[in-house]
Amino acid sequence: MIHASKRAMGIEYAIRDVVLPARELEKQGIKIIKLNIGDPVKFDFQPPQHMKEAYCRAIMEGHNYYGESEGDIELRKAIVEREKKKNGVDITVDDVMVTAAVTEALQFIFGAIVEPGDEVLIPGPSYPPYVALVKFYDGVPKAYLGIEEEGWQPDIDDMRKKISEKTKAIAVINPNNPTGALYDKKTLKEILDLAGEYDIPVISDEIYDLMTYEGKHVSPGSLTKDVPVIVMNGLSKVYFATGWRLGYMYFVDPENKLAEVKEAIGKLARIRLCPNTPAQKAAIAGLTGPMDYLDEYMKKLKERRDYIYKRLNEIPGLSAQKPEGAFYIFPRIEEKSKWKSDKEFVLDVLRNAHILVVHGSGFGEGGEWHFRAVFLPPVEILEQAMDNLEKFMRERLG
Ligand code: PLP
Repeated sequence: MIHASKRAMGIEYAIRDVVLPARELEKQGIKIIKLNIGDPVKFDFQPPQHMKEAYCRAIMEGHNYYGESEGDIELRKAIVEREKKKNGVDITVDDVMVTAAVTEALQFIFGAIVEPGDEVLIPGPSYPPYVALVKFYDGVPKAYLGIEEEGWQPDIDDMRKKISEKTKAIAVINPNNPTGALYDKKTLKEILDLAGEYDIPVISDEIYDLMTYEGKHVSPGSLTKDVPVIVMNGLSKVYFATGWRLGYMYFVDPENKLAEVKEAIGKLARIRLCPNTPAQKAAIAGLTGPMDYLDEYMKKLKERRDYIYKRLNEIPGLSAQKPEGAFYIFPRIEEKSKWKSDKEFVLDVLRNAHILVVHGSGFGEGGEWHFRAVFLPPVEILEQAMDNLEKFMRERLG
């Protein structure tokens, strides 16, 4: 037996872990309604036509070579323009790095800043790769909790308790996965102040930035005066191109504190050669092209959000905050006596209501006794899912 490394064997990814028991049921001919994976392209969403055409054209015109490690210069210009327009940030192409989606940007950032034993503040609950990657680099993820009753806004007092001399960065996921929270400006300013006190950067995951319902997204990059902010974004959500694996990061660093980190990230980028060349041409089309498709898609998502929010809150034993962004809802399992854990609840729902959702504890601290559901499917499917779940809960609660 050849042993794998402990750091790789220790990786957990709850969102995909629950798929195995679902597959077993499907093998027996049982139809499962899948509300587990945040991929809009698995439902009735597609990248806009002009992006698809640009991708195909790039291949046919011969853009099939290795590109620059930091990304296509035309794309980096388009990113600068997009981000100046959206966030008013003062950046140049030298502040931008194109990556194989936000996931690679996270690998680069944590790879560049985490030494063994260093701590990184991450939201609790949070998107699982944050915990996994910080641990992979022998760091220690520390969750700052969300305040559920306040729509899961970050608890700044808790953040203050968790920060220490060992903290190397504060990660912000806004709009948030899994809670759907949209952080307000005041909270973001408080986060920047705290980062400033400890002289550490804020890492801002803005992959859902234009996917908001009532409110508008504010970037810490647009608010900072001296605290360095690393912003990440990409094609996966707002541009509906999850499978193209393309994203970017940029540095808002008014006092040039991140010069060394930037250099380290440049080194990491060079040893992986370059991001996908034709996908970058499609990204230029997306970032500079019309956005009217998004209005139509957001209208559909809002209808689905409103529906699931209303239905979940009518089901006995469950309650949910209204998501203000992204396409996730994170209900609380009020009735704990019937199951040993939230994972048992999720498996019971899978086997008996035939709906696949993800247990909240899979999103780390603060997620216990909740579950995450996506509201990407059309209302008819959500209706079937909620009917099944309601019947299941009524039976269980007697
Ligand atoms: N960040 C957050 C908060 C996400 O929810 C996701 C995907 O669900 C990602 C990053 C992954 O993004 P990408 O496809 O750009 O790697």
